Amino acid sequence: MTESSTDFAGGTTISGQVAPEEYTSQYKPTLVDRWDDLIDWDRRKASENNFFVELLKEAESRRVLDAAAGTGFHSVSLAEAGFEVTAVDGSRKMLDRAAANARREGQSFEIIHTDWRGLGENLDGRYDAIVCLGSSFPHLFDEADRRAVLAEFYEALNPGGMLILDHRNFDAIRAHRYRSSGNFYYCGTGANVSVAHIDENLCRFRYDFPDGATYHLEVYPVLKDELTGLLLQSGFDTTQTFGDFQEKFDIFASDFIIHVARKA
Ligand code: SAM
Repeated sequence: MTESSTDFAGGTTISGQVAPEEYTSQYKPTLVDRWDDLIDWDRRKASENNFFVELLKEAESRRVLDAAAGTGFHSVSLAEAGFEVTAVDGSRKMLDRAAANARREGQSFEIIHTDWRGLGENLDGRYDAIVCLGSSFPHLFDEADRRAVLAEFYEALNPGGMLILDHRNFDAIRAHRYRSSGNFYYCGTGANVSVAHIDENLCRFRYDFPDGATYHLEVYPVLKDELTGLLLQSGFDTTQTFGDFQEKFDIFASDFIIHVARKA
């Protein structure tokens, strides 16, 4: 499906190409409407404590691609921190919300509606850094897709560029040691997130909201070392992992794993 460019008040433009994929149907409009309640921007910001901003500043990044913008939490906070942001997502509904949130926060940045698998065709130039956050990458179920998307990310980076990519701690979840402290990422107090199904190929999360609404999100439960291996095989020179923003972490006591990979 080709999207025509659409102007949004505040100078934000959505353009690009998107192929409808399974994840787009998982993000039902009513779930997108609830997403900001789920993550609670203020509490999430406090929990991150500028972790991503500091990493990007240390790397002297200027041009940053938020590859899984969702409702725009990171795009807005990185724009506020002074980075030149491009927001990408494959869900048009998410991007509509990101554009509205950017307007509300007085920020303006380029927004591109595209699936990652067609990223290169839709970008203008390369980036100093790519962030792919909120456990978005596990929406790719096929290993060939995971490799293809990492190759797209690699290609979209300038030499010396940095990819920051996170996922829920599936090492712990696959060992039936799921915990969600609610202190990181999904900081809203209203919804309960539980694991409805887990095996080596599928993780189904269940989101229960106080008004009785229930949603499911299905993802591939990628392991920490599996992803590190894919990053290195995709050409990244060095990789580093963090558990809940800490360099030293207990693999069974962390909610989220963050990978930082650099292109030589
Ligand atoms: N990063 C945001 C956050 O942390 O709140 C959103 C996270 S949400 C769990 C995952 C996002 O990734 C969704 O907005 C979804 O549309 C997007 N996404 C998943 N697979 C994608 C793909 N193949 N191409 C583009 N976007 C994708």
